[in-house]
Amino acid sequence: LSDRLSGVLDRLTKQGALSEDDVKAALREVRVALLEADVSLPVARAFIKKVQDKATGQAVTKSVTPGQQVVKIVHDALVETLSGEGDPGALKIDNPPAPILMVGLQGSGKTTTTAKLAKRLHEREGKRVLMASLDVNRPAAMEQLEILGKQIGVDTLPIVKGEDPVAIAKRAKTQASLGGYDVYMLDTAGRLHIDQELIAQAAAVRDVANPRETLLVVDGLTGQDAVNVAEEFDDKIGVTGVVLTRMDGDGRGGAALSMRSVTGKPIRFVGLGEKMDAIETFEPERIAGRILGMGDIVSLVEKAQDTLEAEQAERMMKRFQKGQFNMNDLKMQLEQMQKMGGMEGFMGMMPGMGKMAKQMEGAGIDDKIITRQIALIQSMTKKERANPKLLQASRKKRIAKGAGLEVSELNKLLKMQRQMGDMMKKMGKMGKGGMLKQAMK
Ligand code: GDP
Ligand code: MG
Repeated sequence: LSDRLSGVLDRLTKQGALSEDDVKAALREVRVALLEADVSLPVARAFIKKVQDKATGQAVTKSVTPGQQVVKIVHDALVETLSGEGDPGALKIDNPPAPILMVGLQGSGKTTTTAKLAKRLHEREGKRVLMASLDVNRPAAMEQLEILGKQIGVDTLPIVKGEDPVAIAKRAKTQASLGGYDVYMLDTAGRLHIDQELIAQAAAVRDVANPRETLLVVDGLTGQDAVNVAEEFDDKIGVTGVVLTRMDGDGRGGAALSMRSVTGKPIRFVGLGEKMDAIETFEPERIAGRILGMGDIVSLVEKAQDTLEAEQAERMMKRFQKGQFNMNDLKMQLEQMQKMGGMEGFMGMMPGMGKMAKQMEGAGIDDKIITRQIALIQSMTKKERANPKLLQASRKKRIAKGAGLEVSELNKLLKMQRQMGDMMKKMGKMGKGGMLKQAMK
């Protein structure tokens, strides 16, 4: 419940709005940070523009400067842009044996990543994994995978010299079926640059294996190049995700943002070193912090927001305890209910309130009614909202008419405000361990 309520409280904490100048000034610095992190210019530009529109007019939290507030907004926007749908670490490996195709340029970290992922699947998910190297170009490439396999305790397809990649892929498929493997991973050859032959070879392997996942491995330090590579591979081969390697290096991870913005492909894993455990599921928060390099400011603003929310919650609770529950409070609750899927959803979250919820449900509170009730409250004057007892019959009529409703609906609303006020008061009176306080924690 605390999360939901804080949404309401958020709106109380606003101290003033960000002016266009505030936003522009702060964004100039953010732009530098993005470019320094190797975000490509067009991506940085588009991103800044988006944030500028979003930030202007937004409220500034108390005890935070407009600049700090903008940084927080930028951070949140970065996280949003970087996030894909679902769990990036969940590989589709149902229907065994599930093929996973690894593609990318030479030296990007394909072979290393293949082994790292195989180890993860084997150790964490208890999968039986078979790895096969399709790299017939580079001398000793196949032996490299074999050695890694021994090291991590994962089987590799026996090496047969003179086979082409498609033949190896076929053999891997057969072996995986016969051997009862859950997953087989195809580690393809790469080249220094994308060329027709590389793409044609990867496409031929893809057609044989019909992979459940095609993971593109790119060097996270290569910035814009990585993005071009990704576009080309996705266009010709079709990729289901990206693995960014060398994120343990000095680069600030801007490639991740460019990658997401340009290709729209989800980033699934990041490589953080040469060791077999040096791989992690992609975490947008972490990379956002790294790109922006302003983690201190972000946590400062978050703390300020938390403090303010706690203060507001305290204040609100004190008012409720004194029986002060006016139409503004009711409106907030109604809006909250809309978000939570009606009265039952809302009350169901408070201990012991299930029965009350049923009663109110009986009174016919559904989404449409909530919308009408909010319209009624909006037709009241400021004074009337703060003190609904002021409402005389003639005003009631006019308010109902203004919202296109019957006076009886308004009377129901007033009754609800009184009932909820009483309820809040009772809950508040339960003292320090009271429900409301607990519910707000
Ligand atoms: P491939 O040609 O794409 O198969 O690339 P490899 O897997 O052979 O990797 C090339 C080099 O990069 C090797 O020396 C790896 O140890 C190294 N490497 C791979 N991933 C990472 C990573 O995430 N961080 C670092 N620092 N090195 C990596
Ligand atoms: Mg390799």
